[in-house]
Amino acid sequence: MGTTIFTVMSKLANENKAINLSQGFPNFDCSPALRELVSFHLNDGKNQYVPMAGLPSLRDSIAEKVSICYGKTINPSSEITITAGATQALFTAIAAFVSKGDEVILIDPSYDSYRPAVEVMGGIPVAYELEAPNFKINWSNFENLVTEKTKMIIINTPHNPIGKTLKKEDLLALEKIVCNKDIIILSDEVYEHLIYDNQSHQSVLSFPALYKKSLITYSFGKTFHNTGWKIGYCIGPAELMHEFRKVHQFNVFSVNSFVQYALADFLKDASNYLSLPIFYQQKRDALNSFLKGSSLKPLKSEGTYFQLFDYSAISDLPDTEFAKWLTIEHGVASIPISVFYAKAKQSTCVRLCFAKTEETLEKAAIILRGL
Ligand code: PMP
Ligand code: GLN
Repeated sequence: MGTTIFTVMSKLANENKAINLSQGFPNFDCSPALRELVSFHLNDGKNQYVPMAGLPSLRDSIAEKVSICYGKTINPSSEITITAGATQALFTAIAAFVSKGDEVILIDPSYDSYRPAVEVMGGIPVAYELEAPNFKINWSNFENLVTEKTKMIIINTPHNPIGKTLKKEDLLALEKIVCNKDIIILSDEVYEHLIYDNQSHQSVLSFPALYKKSLITYSFGKTFHNTGWKIGYCIGPAELMHEFRKVHQFNVFSVNSFVQYALADFLKDASNYLSLPIFYQQKRDALNSFLKGSSLKPLKSEGTYFQLFDYSAISDLPDTEFAKWLTIEHGVASIPISVFYAKAKQSTCVRLCFAKTEETLEKAAIILRGL
């Protein structure tokens, strides 16, 4: 197994002093009010274990957020577990349900932690491939991949790396496919608030029949601009969450205490997360306007803090080579998308991260316009 592309490209960016639009993290700080809350609780002695499933007041704040965002009532004691980021939530969900020989359907390009997690449990990843430039799911073709052995389907909306969102029709089609089957849906919704052009996020939480079969993963790192804190959570119906916690208790037990106290307080002001779509939409639009006149062709980003650009007017190199060339020769780091497919894939797209200050985006765009 190789090293994750995010480590590879950030290392190359650092070695070449390139502007790093590869790995997805903001280059601006998180809210001063949130940092003050963390420091307050750290110094207030909140330094010992919290309950295994997470601090009760944080789970209450999350249940309140779910009610505000999706009009759904969930039980904070039995349906929410706080995790060490979404990566751990995903891994734990897979470990709890996937055993040797089980098939797991992934939608490629898929986020890079899914496939190894399935494989390490002895599961068999089965890929449904999305095709550029529309990346639409044909649900009847998708259904052909479902067999007696299908244990889990992993979906991701808004989608990293392509920046597309699943629509209501998609979720209804998925619901129809799994309704009478013993299949778990693992829905990665870490970019739930990074959604643009007045769309609303179609969460599995809004589809009662799907929710019964689902575990959903979230990341505070994405929502509150602190990817380094590695705190997230998993939501799911009590019976599935019970199984999830059987693994969680032995691979993490409980997540760091004082940040949980701080997040419990910070979540009480809904504007802290409801303001995100406009905040990031402005960054997406700034990057696109800075890149006007460039030979990079944008593929519209509907969500996430990523956007794909087709570079075929500039180079014939495969995307992994193009991304290296762009970093080393021109000082802008990006992420190639072919690495998110199981089968070797020809791609002429790279992903740029726009979770950056406008100054950084403009500097990068000046270089990119010169290609
Ligand atoms: N899922 C997706 C789609 C992601 O982009 C990321 C990247 N952060 C994660 C999961 C992992 O989130 P975390 O950093 O909270 O582990
Ligand atoms: N999710 C981030 C991205 O897609 C990276 C996370 C990581 O580095 N593991 O760029």
